[in-house]
Amino acid sequence: MGQGRGWEGAVLKLMRAKDFEFTVTHTEDVTPHYRRLRLSDGGMLAATGVHPTMWVRLWFDNAGKPHQRGYTLVDPDPAAGTFGMEFALHEGCASEWARAAKPGDTIEATVQGTGFEVPEPPPSRVFAIADPASLPALNSLLDALGPVPATIWFEGGTDEGLPFRTVPERHEVHAVPRRDAGAQLVARVKEALPELLRSTSEPFVWIACDTATTRALASYVRKELGVPKQRVNALGYWRAS
Ligand SMILES: Cc1cc2nc3c(=O)[nH]c(=O)nc-3n(C[C@H](O)[C@H](O)[C@H](O)COP(=O)(O)OP(=O)(O)OC[C@H]3O[C@@H](n4cnc5c(N)ncnc54)[C@H](O)[C@@H]3O)c2cc1C
Repeated sequence: MGQGRGWEGAVLKLMRAKDFEFTVTHTEDVTPHYRRLRLSDGGMLAATGVHPTMWVRLWFDNAGKPHQRGYTLVDPDPAAGTFGMEFALHEGCASEWARAAKPGDTIEATVQGTGFEVPEPPPSRVFAIADPASLPALNSLLDALGPVPATIWFEGGTDEGLPFRTVPERHEVHAVPRRDAGAQLVARVKEALPELLRSTSEPFVWIACDTATTRALASYVRKELGVPKQRVNALGYWRAS
């Protein structure tokens, strides 16, 4: 495999990426804009193991051309060789594929670049900035951190039945509407974060929203607020157009 996917596939191959084929076993519309699939892993989990926020590169067909996009594993079960995936639906090949997916459909995947570790010393509080595309990763992060409290800014609203795993006792969620290409989210974080950081001994800042907003926030947190880079994890999840 790898060949036939153009230069991206060839580069991933050189980087020793691992390839697998998944099969859809179950589908569920969580909301009109958020769809969950269950898949069998084609032997992946036994080969790769699992870690929090683990994601894979799925290969979709875009009118005969390969189209690679990242998706997060939900509740991976290595013994059963299964996991879920949750798709925030919008325009695009990946969303189209997920909308139409039915049991028996298959999709190819490459595992490369997914590494993640909770920092040491463990965070005393987490500051997370997320949106529907990174909700599966946010949930995985919160599961992994157990009792650690978190302040979360969630772009796109929280009132439409999205499957949050937050618990009110330790997770404070601020819903921020998406406005001005993410500028509203940046403004809300800038208003509150400096003061919150002053009372946090071991912060961990986790940022996963659109690429430009992620970059702006990561640079603000590292350069202007002086949070050490090993205490900041930032990855752009989608490109706004
Ligand atoms: C590490 C990682 C893990 C990810 N995990 C998940 C996951 O578990 N679930 C999930 O839903 N997404 C996840 N994403 C995001 C997903 O890969 C992107 O949203 C991707 O662009 C979708 O591809 P597409 O083919 O549907 O749309 P594209 O062809 O990329 O884009 C088509 C149009 O839709 C817009 N668009 C793309 N994504 C979004 C979005 N999220 N919200 C609003 N508009 C958008 C684009 O600006 C463009 O106009 C993850 C991304 C990364 C990097």
